[in-house]
Amino acid sequence: MLRLDGEPDLECALDTDASAHNPLLQLDYEPAFSALGNDYYDLVAAAPFPEHRLRFRGDGVLRLLGLDPATVGDEHFIEAFGRFEGRGPFLAMRYHGYQFGEYNPHLGDGRGFLYGQVRGLDGELYDLGTKGSGTTPYSRGGDGRLTLKGGLREVLASEALHHLGVRTSRSLSLIETGEALWRGDEPSPTRSAVLVRTSRSHIRFGTFERLHYLKRKDLTQKLLDYVIAYYYPHYAAEPERYALFYRELVGRTAELAAQWMAVGFTHAVLNTDNMSICAESFDYGPYAFIDTFDPGFTAAYFDHYGRYSYGNQPLICRLNLEALQIPLAMVVPASDLEAGLAVFDAHYTGHYTARMLAKLGFGALDPGLGASLLNATLLYLEAAQAGYHDFFRALAAAFERRWREDQGAIVAPAAGAQEAFEPWRDAYFRALASLPEAESERVGERLHRHNPFTVLLRPAIEAVWAAIDQDDDWQLFHDLIGRLRRPNSAS
Ligand code: AMP
Ligand code: MG
Repeated sequence: MLRLDGEPDLECALDTDASAHNPLLQLDYEPAFSALGNDYYDLVAAAPFPEHRLRFRGDGVLRLLGLDPATVGDEHFIEAFGRFEGRGPFLAMRYHGYQFGEYNPHLGDGRGFLYGQVRGLDGELYDLGTKGSGTTPYSRGGDGRLTLKGGLREVLASEALHHLGVRTSRSLSLIETGEALWRGDEPSPTRSAVLVRTSRSHIRFGTFERLHYLKRKDLTQKLLDYVIAYYYPHYAAEPERYALFYRELVGRTAELAAQWMAVGFTHAVLNTDNMSICAESFDYGPYAFIDTFDPGFTAAYFDHYGRYSYGNQPLICRLNLEALQIPLAMVVPASDLEAGLAVFDAHYTGHYTARMLAKLGFGALDPGLGASLLNATLLYLEAAQAGYHDFFRALAAAFERRWREDQGAIVAPAAGAQEAFEPWRDAYFRALASLPEAESERVGERLHRHNPFTVLLRPAIEAVWAAIDQDDDWQLFHDLIGRLRRPNSAS
């Protein structure tokens, strides 16, 4: 936990033998963000909860933090991440943001806080952030709580994306807290929970937007120095470090957008307060994986104009990066920022093409053949309106090595859409035929490796929730997580 100089040590009440032996409380917390000073956050306390039931523990994340899961008991999770009373203070981070295109200066951590920061075994600094831990100065009339269903949806999204190779925050714990919540978008009363997630950073584009709104060049520069020191340290000694940081953020964000698009993920709320300064995917609300390939698919019921539709995501990421130039321009020459943004399209196309060709079974491929195969595939997917994920699994199941010699042997991975199938088969055959013999043997293996059996489609989530809601049966939830962790296994 963060203990600020001069703050009373509120933890002493819990300084029992048990907490002294709680590995989660004994982690080597590093007060990096708090050391920036209180221009960037408010000190807050957590809500007390009537009940504490551990519903999910992220053992993989424990290992990353250097802990052996066998030494961390469920009661340790509950003590550290469910019973916050008498501990803290914690940091509600201040930020603003563009929400659906409108500037909102009334944001900030309204139902969560920065619990602490800790080094992973990889040497990187990780934030431990809460969601649903009580009200803060930014709650704006909200209850500061998270529904259990919302919490389990975030756990499922982060597990699914991580195991599909998308750079994402991870879920460390989900604790049901025994309160009844009222929500417009869930049958109410509904159950409550508190989530703890790890992320590279909870600093958002909107954290900088707030500093521009306040006309604080000094605080912008200080925050930029912090971001570079902790997350882009390879630029720390460079005279052009701010411009280099921005250019790398552009490249990383383009890569993240490409990852979402290839795995068929729609984040659904790409406001600038949900865009990470480390280009990590986080904050999973009304997200959805696409069923069929439909660029217009919109996941949030309140997104009336499809602003954050599946197909708009690369464009929106680019627009958000452009919006970030406004605060950064207080410190970085505008021409450097423009040059940085210019790398977006090439990064996006490069990463998206590579990922999609891998889903089609290919590694290195002649760029012209690769581009025409990708183009023909997207046209075929759109025309057939077959399941996006089913298409690739069907291709993996049907693939035979003789396809390389015999175009006529190539069978359709989707029903119908004959007029789009022919050009696809032609492009697929030409790509296969271009491969050296040894390389063509790896196509089948790649098809299996890059196309998941288990996809987190909405009906799967609803089935998990129905069992919990009706019978408090958590088996389906744990089974689904098990399958998401082994996406390439049929069982
Ligand atoms: P989100 O849509 O989760 O990214 O949140 C947008 C803003 O609304 C952030 O400032 C949140 O902290 C705040 N917020 C969302 N839900 C609640 C809630 N139940 N209580 C208080 N603040 C909330
Ligand atoms: Mg958010």
